[in-house]
Amino acid sequence: MKSFSYDASPARIVFGQGTIREIAEEVRRLGRSRVMVLASRRLDALAADVTESLGDMAVVRFDGAVMHTPTEVTTAALKLAETHHVDIVVAIGGGSATGLSKALALRAGVDQIIVPTTYAGSEVTPVLGETDNGRKTTRSSPDIRPETVVYDVDLTLDLPLNTTVTSAVNAMAHAVEALYSAESNPITDSMAIEALSGIARALPIIVGDPRNVEGRADLLQSAWLAGTCLGTVGMGLHHKLCHTLGGSFGLPHAPTHAVVLPQAMAFNAPAVPEVMSRIATALGVSDAATGVFDLVTSCGGPTSLREVGMSHDQIGRAVELATAAAYPNPREITPPGLSELLENAWSGRRPAIR
Ligand code: NAD
Repeated sequence: MKSFSYDASPARIVFGQGTIREIAEEVRRLGRSRVMVLASRRLDALAADVTESLGDMAVVRFDGAVMHTPTEVTTAALKLAETHHVDIVVAIGGGSATGLSKALALRAGVDQIIVPTTYAGSEVTPVLGETDNGRKTTRSSPDIRPETVVYDVDLTLDLPLNTTVTSAVNAMAHAVEALYSAESNPITDSMAIEALSGIARALPIIVGDPRNVEGRADLLQSAWLAGTCLGTVGMGLHHKLCHTLGGSFGLPHAPTHAVVLPQAMAFNAPAVPEVMSRIATALGVSDAATGVFDLVTSCGGPTSLREVGMSHDQIGRAVELATAAAYPNPREITPPGLSELLENAWSGRRPAIR
């Protein structure tokens, strides 16, 4: 028997199709009336529609959310929020829009309604990663966790396939690392297993038929579950490495996860064979790490750090940065071990079957 503690997430979740039309009611439900609508530039048309649906409650819009939450973007958005006396943020988009919203909530105490359009899962975590001077740091606080999440499956139907695949593997990474987390518990474990089997089931359906509503709903629910795992228990090597690669070398978040996950799993597999076997069963494959690698390959996702923008001479610095501070991981992380992992990830080598 394992003893554990478990903190349930108090967020309100609205899930369905067309739920974007319920945002105004959700703002009123929270007793707020001065909304800042946040998005990334690519989603400005959607942000404009939501702004219009909010009528007089929408007091300002900011379309400048970018990846890795750079503090200079937060400062610009914060100034706008203060000038317009904003009391709630409605953030539409992937983890980048959510990250900016969280950064504002932490600084200005505003409420948050998040409308996710990718599978990043950040909307249900109390975690904020921010980049300042090329260093990405992470902090966790109940003040960061959004009050409400409005999942509208319709917003994901046109998510480009490459983003769909890499973002889904980002979600998978939350579930995988939750299962071997030092803080793992039976509740998070069951969410992680359900998330993994949902992602493995939904992805091939979506790759064959990108606007398949049931597949998209399955994937979005799985991403929510995986995000809940991320928000509940600590992560390990994989997340640390992806944060280092994203924050210090500007690599794109989800594609980096898609490349690193099978390699990090292969690295950790000797230390947690039972966990890997549970993951393999959930994915319907015989070996967990190669199963994830093959899924990414068959869905057309990236398999090498080279193709997502890393140069080979950055490996040494990445090893230095990722081993500078100790963090929990089931297998001891040494510079030679990490170098080998990164060499494999850089060249896109298929992990060996264990
Ligand atoms: P993203 O939010 O940057 O989105 C990727 C691209 O896809 C952007 O250009 C965006 O405009 C576009 N896009 C998003 N939804 C779309 C849609 N439906 N249709 C068309 N285009 C769309 O990327 P992401 O991977 O979702 O998020 C990455 C960021 O989230 C990183 O900064 C990462 O650190 C953070 N994150 C944080 C947590 C956490 O718990 N703190 C968890 C996961 C990710």
